[in-house]
Amino acid sequence: MSLVVQKFGGSSVADADSVKRVAKRIVEYRQAGHDVVVVVSAMGDSTDDLIDLAKEISPVPPARELDMLLTAGERISMAVLAMAIANLGYHAQSFTGSQAGVITDESFGKARIIDVTPGRIRSALDDGNVAIVAGFQGVSQTTKNITTLGRGGSDTTAVALAAALNADVCEIYSDVDGVFTADPRIVPSAHKISLISYEEMLEMAASGAKILMLRCVEYARRYGVPVHVRSSFSQHQGTWVTDAPIPEAFRTAQTEETEEKMEQAIISGVAHDRSEAKLTIVGVPDIPGKAAEIFRTVGHQEIDIDMIVQNISTRDPGRTDISFTLPKDDGVKAIEALESAKGSIGFDHIQYDDQIGKLSVIGAGMRSHPGVTATLFDALADAHINIDMISTSEIRISVVTNAELLDDAVRAAHTAYGLDADDTEAIVYGGTGR
Ligand code: ASP
Ligand code: MG
Repeated sequence: MSLVVQKFGGSSVADADSVKRVAKRIVEYRQAGHDVVVVVSAMGDSTDDLIDLAKEISPVPPARELDMLLTAGERISMAVLAMAIANLGYHAQSFTGSQAGVITDESFGKARIIDVTPGRIRSALDDGNVAIVAGFQGVSQTTKNITTLGRGGSDTTAVALAAALNADVCEIYSDVDGVFTADPRIVPSAHKISLISYEEMLEMAASGAKILMLRCVEYARRYGVPVHVRSSFSQHQGTWVTDAPIPEAFRTAQTEETEEKMEQAIISGVAHDRSEAKLTIVGVPDIPGKAAEIFRTVGHQEIDIDMIVQNISTRDPGRTDISFTLPKDDGVKAIEALESAKGSIGFDHIQYDDQIGKLSVIGAGMRSHPGVTATLFDALADAHINIDMISTSEIRISVVTNAELLDDAVRAAHTAYGLDADDTEAIVYGGTGR
C-alpha cells in the first residue's frame, strides 16, 4: 500500500462545492487502496481577508497575534473537508499543525520547520482515517507559541510531512496543470514540463516562478521526496519534480516518454521576476574591505541580495561602482542603512532603480552544451532589448532589463530555445489564490 500526501491550495477549496469536489478526489485515492494525508490551505483568499482585518484593527499587529489569527484560515478548511469526506462514507480526522507535530523556530510570519513528529497522524492512518492537516502553521519548539511559515507555506508543510512519513509521493494541487516553460499569461505558447530535477526547480523557484515555494523545493530535495504538481480541476498528469524515476505505483502510459523527453531538453524553462530593484553605490574607494563593509551593512538589515556587479570607473581611477539587486520591499531600508554608513565607506552617492525586471533561463543541459548563452544574447539583441546586468550559475543565465521590456524578453528567449508549443496548452482553471 502506498502513502500519498496531497496538498490542496486555496483556489481548490474556495467554496463549499470545491470542498466537496476535492473530497471526492481524495476518496478516489482511498478506493484505489492508498493511505492519504491531506494538507490544506485557507479557503480562497481568506488569508488576505484576515490580514486586512488585522490591519483595520492595528497598523502594526503584534506578530504573535497575527500568526494566531492567520492559522484560523486553515483550521476552517481542514474541518469542512473532513466533514465532506465523512459525508461520502469515509473516515477523516483533521489536525492543526501543532497536533500534527510540525515543530518550528520562533520567527513569527516566516517560521522554519525544525522537526516533524507525526505520531498522531500515523495513528489516525492506522485507524483507517484520511488525516487532514492545516498547512502553513506549526508550533514553536521553545515557547509553544503558534507560528506561520510565510505566504504559500502549505506546500512546505506537505513536503515536510511527506518526508517525515516517508510517503511515496507528495501531490501539490493548484489551479494550473503543472510547471510551465514560462508564465502562460505572458507566453501563450508555453507548455507543461512533464519532469524536472530538484536542482532546476530550485533555480526556477528562486528566479521568480511562483508555482512552488522555494523552501518547499529545498525540503523536497534534501529528503528526496518526489513531488507531483498538478491541477485539482483536471485529471491530467502534471509536473514531476524528482531526480529518481517516477514511483512504480504512479507510472502511466506516458511516463517513459516523459523521462526520455527530460533527457533531451537543454533548457527547461524561462522564469521572470518583477519583485526586485537595483541599487548602485557610485564612487566606492577601490581598496580591500569596501565590498565587505557594504554587504555587511546590508546584511545586518536581513536583506537578501541577488545579483552583484562591480565596475572599475575608468574616469576616476581608484574608485569603483558596485550595483546589486534586492527585493523592492527592502529598498528604503537598504538606502537608509548605507547612507548612515556613508562616512566610513566613503562612497559618493546612491542610485536606485525599481523599474527593472529579471529574466532567467534554466536548464541542466547548459553544462554540456556550449553556445547556450550566445543564443540568449542574440535573441535579446534581435528584439532590441538592452541588458543591464548579467549573472550565471552552472545551470542558469539571468539578465536584468528595463521592466517594460521584460515580457518581450521572456517571449524572445522562449522562442529562441525552441520551447514554443504547437498549440496552446496552458489553462488556468481557478481564481488567483493558491
Ligand atoms: N493560506 C496561506 C497563504 O495564502 C498559506 C498557503 O496558501 O499556502 O499564504
Ligand atoms: Mg493561499
